[in-house]
Amino acid sequence: MEKETINHLIDTAIHQLKYSYTPYSNFKVGAALLARNGQVYTGCNIENAGYTATNCAERTAFFKAVSEGVKEFQAICVVGGRAGVLTEYTAPCGVCRQVMMEFCNPETFQVILAVDKEHYAVYTLKELLPLGFGPSNLA
Ligand SMILES: [Zn+2]
Repeated sequence: MEKETINHLIDTAIHQLKYSYTPYSNFKVGAALLARNGQVYTGCNIENAGYTATNCAERTAFFKAVSEGVKEFQAICVVGGRAGVLTEYTAPCGVCRQVMMEFCNPETFQVILAVDKEHYAVYTLKELLPLGFGPSNLA
């Protein structure tokens, strides 16, 4: 993936931090999901007083895209930190990795974890979810 594209995804994910709704944890997460069609879908984490109703930034982005008929993706950038201060990588939780497994090729889908445009790491979904259970298991 081109550095210019990575930079755009990092900027977009960081921009999402201001929309993060986190009155309980104050741990803010932003995501930028690049679809195969070139469109970027954004997400932030959205907490809830009934904790289990909380939604992660990554799933917010995926569900926005899927709800608009988009189901093919290239990469997602995730940033996060307490009070929105980025000091280390914030990796997707297990539930979000499973959602990625539903729509993405684990061999090629890229997960970009970033602190800023100079400090980031790129993983495949397979690296983050080895031996994942997906649609092919039910085919
Ligand atoms: Zn998650």
